[in-house]
Amino acid sequence: MQVTDICDLFAGCIGVENVVSGERLALRNPGYCEDSFVSGVLLTPISTEQVSQICKLAQAHQIPIVPHGGLTGLVQGTASKPGQVALSLENMNSVREVDPIQGMIVADAGVVLQQVIDATEPHGMHVGVDLPSRGSLTLGGMASTNAGGIQALRYGMARDNILGLEVVLPDGTVLDLTNRLVKNNAGYDLKQLFIGAEGTLGIITKVVMRLHSKPAGIGTALIGCPSADALFDVLLSAKQSFGGGLISFEAMWPDYFNLTTGHLGNRLLETECAIYGIIEIGQWGAGDAQELLTEFLADGFERGTIADGVVAQSDTQRQAIWQIREDSDIVDTAHGPSLSYDVGLLLRDIPDYVARIKSRLSAECPEMESFVFGHLGDGNLHVMVGPAPAPGQHATVDNIIYGALEAFHHTTVSAEHGIGLEKKSHLSQSRSPEAISTMLEIKKALDPSNMANPGKILSGQ
Ligand SMILES: Cc1cc2nc3c(=O)[nH]c(=O)nc-3n(C[C@H](O)[C@H](O)[C@H](O)COP(=O)(O)OP(=O)(O)OC[C@H]3O[C@@H](n4cnc5c(N)ncnc54)[C@H](O)[C@@H]3O)c2cc1C
Repeated sequence: MQVTDICDLFAGCIGVENVVSGERLALRNPGYCEDSFVSGVLLTPISTEQVSQICKLAQAHQIPIVPHGGLTGLVQGTASKPGQVALSLENMNSVREVDPIQGMIVADAGVVLQQVIDATEPHGMHVGVDLPSRGSLTLGGMASTNAGGIQALRYGMARDNILGLEVVLPDGTVLDLTNRLVKNNAGYDLKQLFIGAEGTLGIITKVVMRLHSKPAGIGTALIGCPSADALFDVLLSAKQSFGGGLISFEAMWPDYFNLTTGHLGNRLLETECAIYGIIEIGQWGAGDAQELLTEFLADGFERGTIADGVVAQSDTQRQAIWQIREDSDIVDTAHGPSLSYDVGLLLRDIPDYVARIKSRLSAECPEMESFVFGHLGDGNLHVMVGPAPAPGQHATVDNIIYGALEAFHHTTVSAEHGIGLEKKSHLSQSRSPEAISTMLEIKKALDPSNMANPGKILSGQ
């Protein structure tokens, strides 16, 4: 079918104003996936009913649908092709209910995370999931990628914080799974199927999330350590000292730390260290988080596990610390577009893994640089390699990053970003043949015509 015919078809059911194509589409930013709009058609429904009608029409005419959230996904999950339609939830963007006593928020899938932060803050609550892309990512995208982020150590991933969902299946059936109860063991917990499915099983239209009390105080420290082992020692001490009050524990290797601090024009620390970390703690009861963290750092200095460190004395200083970690786009600004990886390992294997990839990258791709940082407390490393190589060389870098995982047990090629198109050929490294064929069976049961984001995550549908 031609683009104009597809537009006419859907304009008949959701109105011409909600069908974007041609110049109007060309003006849009495709986000972190340059092929987001290759389909040439973007549908922007305003209600679950319209999403359902679109799915029925798409099914009848065999037009696959690629769901779009905030387009911050990093694995090409929103890429579309001619003959398909992209569907954005941007017009379904209302926070429906905030109930601090029940401890939950109900919002449309197109609501941006920052909107949720703003809506819950006056109640002294938050949703427990926070990512650097908070200004653009939507709740639907967050649920579909089972996002992790900087507080997963304390609150878990998106899956652990989602109480319920509303989902439109590929045949247009509306599945109301908007559970609000913390305890609900009535049969299969179907929402879990759609969390992390990257839009391959249906379109999420509403999300119910748990709310957590905001801590009365926050303590944030930037530290430098003499070795990775010393940083692990600090992590263990932080777990023992702060228990559930430990919210984030991040790491940055010198390549990344020196690049971002150089670019931002502020190192905050004086000493050159082997590795850098960010510790964030919350304080709900007695005590002052900043003071507790200052004492904790003093102990680390004494024991020699911390070589340098600073505790934020204001929100501005806290933001300056987090900016060093969160402004990973600086790698692209400084070196041109880079390749981005998101692996997971047991903590004890991380230093050896980083040494292996760095040594192979400098031997086999000497023109490229690598930058390593991540959510250390979760065993989740981000590796950026830039400048992006010529297409033939991409596989060489993939083989180094993923190949090095094979020396270890209990690893993953995707700790939090998902599989999309980008990591499809490496899925079998992290999931057994039996697990992959079970995924394919689930896909066939819910989407027998393969209309929901086809080609993402799984091959052979
Ligand atoms: C600077 C930066 C930092 C980041 N940091 C983190 C991090 O710390 N942790 C982390 O986990 N991720 C991180 N990400 C990745 C990204 O922000 C997350 O994956 C986010 O959850 C994607 O949400 P989105 O709304 O942008 O989804 P999109 O990018 O629009 O879509 C992502 C996937 O979800 C599907 N999808 C989107 N909406 C729906 C829907 N309503 N129903 C069904 N399927 C849907 C899409 O088809 C696609 O497959 C980061 C990205 C950037 C750019």
